[in-house]
Amino acid sequence: MRRPTGRQTLTTPPRFPMANYVFEPVPAPSLPINGTDRLFPVHRVYCVGRNYAAHAIEMGHDPDREDPFFFAKHPGNLLVGADFPYPAETSDVHHEIEMVVALGSGGTNIAVDNANDCIFGYAVGLDMTRRDLQAQAKKAGRPWDLGKAFEHSAPCSAVVPAAEIGHPDAGEVLLKVNGVVRQQGDLNQLIWKVPEMIAYLSRYFELQRGDLIFSGTPAGVGPVQRGDRLEGSVAGVGSLELSVI
Ligand code: MN
Repeated sequence: MRRPTGRQTLTTPPRFPMANYVFEPVPAPSLPINGTDRLFPVHRVYCVGRNYAAHAIEMGHDPDREDPFFFAKHPGNLLVGADFPYPAETSDVHHEIEMVVALGSGGTNIAVDNANDCIFGYAVGLDMTRRDLQAQAKKAGRPWDLGKAFEHSAPCSAVVPAAEIGHPDAGEVLLKVNGVVRQQGDLNQLIWKVPEMIAYLSRYFELQRGDLIFSGTPAGVGPVQRGDRLEGSVAGVGSLELSVI
């Protein structure tokens, strides 16, 4: 059997022949590209917290501009489809409607002025959150993974290329539950703008093509129940419809 050898760098993970794996790797998650049969292969999923002042206030925090903070979901947490299964071990699942930034290239120490060059496109996502578990973690000073990074916790629309829509920095961010408006904001209210988020993240991580960044949610987060119908949209980007099952 051929042994994999050769130089390995962070930016180019080694490719091994399929026969070297002890079992078949789980397929890499991907998102459809709007209006095509092509796919956006996902590498990592970064999420920014408290990026709209009104949401920071509703969660009990000072909306002053502090450094952005991030948490992660797993690429395997993405949900492409119309049904969101109510997750286990919670009785308080919240919706968070967000614009999602999809990177086509990455790097480290990216300048704010160059950040948009890394963006392949945009999508509409929901940062579904087991709020009860997140609250317990916050109280205990523990990581948020149980509250944030669970199966199907990142429903996401198709990616719309920036080549088609440009780089939206204003436009309504809306979520309706059963036809009633629950969340309403505007991209122009983002505390940390998209290029600033990319620049900041790239100081701490090596960003890669295929990375997604959930950009934060406006005020109005709240619980969903089985049977609820969620309709989210970001003006100029697209929409996302979901049933809680
Ligand atoms: Mn969020």
